[in-house]
Amino acid sequence: MSAIDDLPPLREVLAEYELNAKKALGQNFLLDLNLTQKIARTAGSLEGVHVIEVGPGPGGLTRAILSLNAERLTVIERDGRCLPVLAKIAERYPERLEIINGDALEQDFTALAGGKPVKIIANLPYNVGTQLLVNWLLPSGWPPCWQSLTLMFQKEVAQRIVARPGDKHYGRLGVLAGWRSEARIAFDVPPQAFTPPPKVTSSVVNLTPRARPFPVAADKLEKVTQAAFGQRRKMLRQSLKSLGGETLLEKAGIDPKRRAETLSVEEFCNLASLL
Ligand code: SAM
Repeated sequence: MSAIDDLPPLREVLAEYELNAKKALGQNFLLDLNLTQKIARTAGSLEGVHVIEVGPGPGGLTRAILSLNAERLTVIERDGRCLPVLAKIAERYPERLEIINGDALEQDFTALAGGKPVKIIANLPYNVGTQLLVNWLLPSGWPPCWQSLTLMFQKEVAQRIVARPGDKHYGRLGVLAGWRSEARIAFDVPPQAFTPPPKVTSSVVNLTPRARPFPVAADKLEKVTQAAFGQRRKMLRQSLKSLGGETLLEKAGIDPKRRAETLSVEEFCNLASLL
């Protein structure tokens, strides 16, 4: 394994700072710097880019992002035990690493970006990953503050994000992600790549914002997908009864006998805009 910087190997860092992984913080660390570089490269060129990383932990992905010449990197970490380790990385890359000790769910990412689109890269804590993604997909203004999201999820969640009609993973998350972004799974990461290993395979997902998503209010889209997928085995005339049922479906030119999983993102948006 080739070194990407002159900082100590991550295993030594974990031992020196006694960073034993805490389950409550979703800590599954990546110690292979070649793998963390592969994840960072999925975001495309980082030259001259401001990157925001959520949950740097002992800094494997952080070091990869900096080694690939990101102009600035802002990291948000909840676990105070990681701060001295991150401070060492900041010393190695003067004036480029900004460390925020806090909860990513409480950060204002638009303010952090400061008017210039950022790339967000993260090996996310699984317990907050989906909520963060939904927040990034649903800002009040569009385009968002990010030009790409490169995120690690449990494979099953990744499949729901990129799912298309007819796919068994297709549901509310797929419609939301498909409405506002183009999402793809870049590659899978096996449990053994993490310390400690999680129970399931993970996947790195890359999302870029759509320039002109279908103009519809997010809360209406949410209402339709909630009703439709809440009873996914039923015909839409039944599952959408409280929102107008057959009348609404006829206005949208959709056969009332169809089921939620067959509708395209555009058809969902069209239905929502008629509410
Ligand atoms: N990026 C590191 C890596 O790849 O080895 C650590 C990844 S680990 C899956 C998730 C990290 O997110 C942990 O360092 C954890 O302390 C941190 N974390 C958990 N909840 C968080 C939150 N709400 N806000 C910010 N960081 C959080």
